[in-house]
Amino acid sequence: MTHYHIDHIRYAWDIARTFNCRVVASIPESVIIEGSEKPRNIGLLQSLFSFMVRVKPVNVDIKVGDGEVIEGYRTIYAPGHTPGSTAYLKDDLLFSGDAVVEQGGKPALPPRIFTLDMRKAAESFNKLLSLRPRIIYPGHGSPISLGT
Ligand SMILES: [Zn+2]
Repeated sequence: MTHYHIDHIRYAWDIARTFNCRVVASIPESVIIEGSEKPRNIGLLQSLFSFMVRVKPVNVDIKVGDGEVIEGYRTIYAPGHTPGSTAYLKDDLLFSGDAVVEQGGKPALPPRIFTLDMRKAAESFNKLLSLRPRIIYPGHGSPISLGT
């Protein structure tokens, strides 16, 4: 999992149960995904969503630190959108969550309204692109192809 936002974790419990798979998330996001802590400083929109949508907390089986490798996927902490936002790199494929989203076929910053710290988000965005992924699979939008 890349971060705790509802649109990314809402069905995690069902997916983990259906496919009997392990749930992986960063250490800072895990407590929120597991429901033992509430996120801090969430915006009005997020508060409204969390009020309207009930999410079943899911157990995080593997809590990863920055730079750890799990089954060939390297964890890359990419804070800003949320404090513990995390991307996963496998070979030259990047699963960016909302640290990089797609806009018009190109990588873009996450929307300001859903992002806690735009300065950090921009730093993380640049860090992820500097890894020179061939394809980015963003949390929103189509896969982004960055050439050969
Ligand atoms: Zn998000």
